[in-house]
Amino acid sequence: MIELENITKRYKKNEVLKGVDLKVQKGDVLVIIGPSGSGKTTLLRCMNYLERPDEGTVTIDGFTVKGNHPSKRDILALRRKTAMVFQHYNLFKNKTVLENVTEGLIVAKKVSKQEAREIGISLLEQVGLAEKMDEYPSRLSGGQQQRVGIARALALNPSVILFDEPTSALDPEMVGEVLSIIKKIARDGITMVVVTHEIEFAREVATRVVFMDEGQIVEEGVPEEILVRPKHDRTKQFLKRLV
Ligand code: ATP
Repeated sequence: MIELENITKRYKKNEVLKGVDLKVQKGDVLVIIGPSGSGKTTLLRCMNYLERPDEGTVTIDGFTVKGNHPSKRDILALRRKTAMVFQHYNLFKNKTVLENVTEGLIVAKKVSKQEAREIGISLLEQVGLAEKMDEYPSRLSGGQQQRVGIARALALNPSVILFDEPTSALDPEMVGEVLSIIKKIARDGITMVVVTHEIEFAREVATRVVFMDEGQIVEEGVPEEILVRPKHDRTKQFLKRLV
C-alpha cells in the first residue's frame, strides 16, 4: 500500500534521512517513535511530498513518485491518495467548521455542495462536533479543532491518513479526546501512519511500531516487540528515558 525505498533527505549538509526503506500494509496503523530531531516528521512529510526527498521513491497504491524533480501532476496525484492531520490543525480560520470539512470535497473531489454538506455533517457527528458546524475554528478548543482536522482528513476518503504529532500542541486534558477519536477510526480499518510521542497510544492502537534515530529506522515490529522487548540499545535507552 505504501512503499518507501531509499528515502534520503538533506538540509544543506545535514543528512536528516539516510536511505529509509519502509512498507506499510493496507489497514496498518503504523506508529513512528523516536527522539526529537530523529527525522520522524520529515519522513512523514516525504510520504506525500510536502518535503521532497533528495533520493528515493514513494509508492502509494501502486503509484510511484521518484526523487527530487517529479512533475507537479505526479505530486498532486500522490497527494490525492493521502490526507494529513497536522500538529497545529491548519484549519481555514475564515471558514466555518463545516466548510473546513467540505472544502476538499467540493474543490478537489468535485462533489456537489449539497452532497458535501451531508457527508460533512455525518463526519462531524463521528467526531462529536455536529453542533459546532457553523462556528469558526477560533471559537473551539484545541482538542475540538484537531477533531475537525480529523473529520476533514476523513472527508477526502484517502488511501492513508498521515498524522503529524496530532496531540503535541494540545493541553494535557484534551489529548485523550483526540486519541480516542483516532483509536475509533483505526478500528474502522483505515490505513494510518502516526508520528507521536504518546507511547501508550502506540501500545494500544499500533499494528506496527517503527523506532527511528538519527535519520534511520533502527527497528520495526509489532508493538510488543519494539516497546516491551526491543533488541537495540538505542531503543531501550529511548524507552527508559520515557518512564
Ligand atoms: P520532533 O520529535 O522534535 O518533532 P522529528 O523526529 O520529527 O523531531 P524532524 O522534524 O523530522 O525530526 O527533523 C529532523 C532534522 O531535520 C532536525 O535536525 C531538524 O532540525 C532538521 N530540519 C527539519 N526541517 C528542516 C528545515 N526545513 N530546514 C532545515 N532543517 C530542518
